[in-house]
Amino acid sequence: MEINEIATKITSNLNKQEMLDFLFSLIETETVNPPGNEYLLHDIIMKCMKEIGAEVQIISKDEKRPNYIGRIGRGEPSVAIISHMDVVPPGEGWTHHPFQPYENEGKIYGRGALDNKGCLAASWAGIKALLKSGLKFKGTIYFCAVSDEEMGSDYGVEYIVEKGFKPDYAIVPDSGSIDKAVIGEKGAAWFDLESFGKQSHGSTPELGINAIIKVSKLISNFEKFDFNLKYDPRFTPPTINVGMVSGGNAPNIVASRCKVTLDIRYPVGITEGMILKRMSDEIEVLKKKDNEVDIRLGEVTTRHYPHIIENNSKLIDAFKNTAKEIGMPMEFETSAGITVAKILNLNGIPAIAHSPDSDKTWHISDEYVKIENLEKCAVLWASVIYELVR
Ligand SMILES: [Zn+2]
Repeated sequence: MEINEIATKITSNLNKQEMLDFLFSLIETETVNPPGNEYLLHDIIMKCMKEIGAEVQIISKDEKRPNYIGRIGRGEPSVAIISHMDVVPPGEGWTHHPFQPYENEGKIYGRGALDNKGCLAASWAGIKALLKSGLKFKGTIYFCAVSDEEMGSDYGVEYIVEKGFKPDYAIVPDSGSIDKAVIGEKGAAWFDLESFGKQSHGSTPELGINAIIKVSKLISNFEKFDFNLKYDPRFTPPTINVGMVSGGNAPNIVASRCKVTLDIRYPVGITEGMILKRMSDEIEVLKKKDNEVDIRLGEVTTRHYPHIIENNSKLIDAFKNTAKEIGMPMEFETSAGITVAKILNLNGIPAIAHSPDSDKTWHISDEYVKIENLEKCAVLWASVIYELVR
């Protein structure tokens, strides 16, 4: 059967009202991380798992932070669709109560409507429609609801992968947008530059060496810094963010120390070592011009390696063909953000990210998702899953 025929079957079996009821009950249950408390959703998740006939495995590092893996089928290959149950705090500026969802002009409002509860509801509704269509398949479908995405996934995806969860493919409905799927993510390295000077009285700055001024000569180049390194052309160039600066003791003392913290995002093809080498070369250049410069590189405190799904991946092909067949315009790109797709990819599980977003409403007040986009995603994801497991 052709993909568009399959998608038509799934569309006709998709129950929009059930999907929205599930989404409303998800938003109404506060799972702000920290602390998360995703266990509060237990009954709701288990009811949905039962409705799709999934065999449920619960993997928890902490009983209040469960991860639900619902298994349908037994064969190969296996495809997981993984959404998270936690949300960021509501913050200020909401027109309505963030945990009392409502519908207005084809949109559902509430904290988590998009990120990531809408996606959880859409992936469930899509799988349910697929099963209702009576289409036979050989492989295994994993419908997953995980904890702790917003604070680093130590209790979530990181933990289930550590415990041996290893599907052949994964869909992560948590980045990209309705017409953009993400096939790779940059890496990140956070580290300090520490500048040393010589203290003296503020009335005689010429007698000291100002550590702040010395390091400012270096970081003033960082707005548009050319790393002059080769990398995978599917990525945008590496970037530097000067995130924090601290230094000095008083207005009337020449600053003898200054610390600058950087967040460097870099593509596949570049390594952390190359970044650090490039940075120390830059310091050397400055030292040659000014022998009073004493800037040292600190240890990398946060690191994420870059990743990209292989070009010939069946996952990308299935996504591409399905989107095309059902008439959804779709670009495939890389991003500088970091999602659980990275954890999966770096553990040997090709994972693509895509989402129903069209207006970048993540983490803002009056977060919303378009119902129409949830329906499109439900059909697309279920069709892609079917294409892989058929
Ligand atoms: Zn998210």
